[in-house]
Amino acid sequence: MPIQCSVDLVPGLSTTPVWRKWLLTATIAAAAAGAAVLYIFDPARCAIYPVCPWHSLTGWDCPGCGTLRAIHQLTHGNLAAAWRLNPLAMALLPAGCWLALRELVWQAAGKKWPGLVTRPVFGWALAVITVVFGIVRNLPGFRI
Ligand SMILES: [Zn+2]
Repeated sequence: MPIQCSVDLVPGLSTTPVWRKWLLTATIAAAAAGAAVLYIFDPARCAIYPVCPWHSLTGWDCPGCGTLRAIHQLTHGNLAAAWRLNPLAMALLPAGCWLALRELVWQAAGKKWPGLVTRPVFGWALAVITVVFGIVRNLPGFRI
């Protein structure tokens, strides 16, 4: 008797291993729990969140500084405040949501949507943009 190693949401369609579906479910649950925690506990006022090691060591904001506070503002519908706290993270959020949704559909239904990063140049461009943002946001007069 063959060993069952996949879950078929549509019988005969999916060949995704069971562990990947559990991992996907756990990831979605963790993301929802994280969003709920960020909604309830303001990172600007609660000390339950980790501090940025780069900011602690240098006093400068890294490209990710302000992201938790921005997501807190976003969960409360304050898009402008979220943008002020970390515009790069807010600009990348739709792409991140697209990639997460794409992965979800691929794992759940076996359908692969078009990718955003189809060539290596996109990854390199994102790396350069992130580094430039990390430098510019610490320049005098550019506190973003
Ligand atoms: Zn940081």
